[in-house]
Amino acid sequence: MIRLRDVSLPAATQGQLNKLQRGIDSVADYEEKVAAAKTQFARHNRADNPSFRVVRSSLTEMCSGARRCGYCEDSCADEVEHIKPKALYPEAVFVWENYLYACGPCNGLKNNKFAVFSATTGRLTNVTRKKGDPIVPPAPGDAVLIDPRREDPLEFMELDLMGTFYFLPIARPGSKEYRRANYTIEVLRLNERDVLPTARREAYGSYRARLSEYITKREGGAPENRLNALVQALQRMGHPTVWKEMKRQHRLLSELQELFEQAPEALDW
Ligand SMILES: [Zn+2]
Repeated sequence: MIRLRDVSLPAATQGQLNKLQRGIDSVADYEEKVAAAKTQFARHNRADNPSFRVVRSSLTEMCSGARRCGYCEDSCADEVEHIKPKALYPEAVFVWENYLYACGPCNGLKNNKFAVFSATTGRLTNVTRKKGDPIVPPAPGDAVLIDPRREDPLEFMELDLMGTFYFLPIARPGSKEYRRANYTIEVLRLNERDVLPTARREAYGSYRARLSEYITKREGGAPENRLNALVQALQRMGHPTVWKEMKRQHRLLSELQELFEQAPEALDW
């Protein structure tokens, strides 16, 4: 999981979203607001809606590889996901900064799960609304889930390139940052879904192979444009977290140290 690149919507589309959000905000009763948010989002979030076509193409610009999911980086992103669930936060249902392009498995796992650090007690408080619970506003407080639109997840967690390819929290156990990393990893099951660590391991091999190819070609005197094409191909590869971690951890692993010593320029890619 990496921080997603900043993309703005064209003014007309942003204006449309603002208008839709004002419509929701004008509903006074919270329960009715939640119902309106769900209905209006379902009505507009369609392939034949011009504004949402632009929303989707703008979200695509944030994706790695072949339109990969902003959370797991593995599957195709095809669902407009609300980082803060619309069922809990109808005031953010048409807020551009609350959107992320996610895959079905991630969106399904996250669903309406959410937690905050309570504004009154400071405790990690699960605000997920279960079936049958009263429809009331969630307890106020800062989000626990790491928001890759606004924050760099790799400041909170790192990838174990030495063996498991699991995400691990970086901060001291018990700290706020540690709990945020842990919560994010658990809600999205970033380690538990077997396919994800396997895909990261394979990406690690592919990135190393690409980098070796670049070094071999450069040593062989390949022209600048051929080398640039290789760099661009590497930058389009999936699982960008793996590449970022390879650069961050290159001094810790001898196989990486050797590669980056031969191509220190790759640390800027
Ligand atoms: Zn995903």
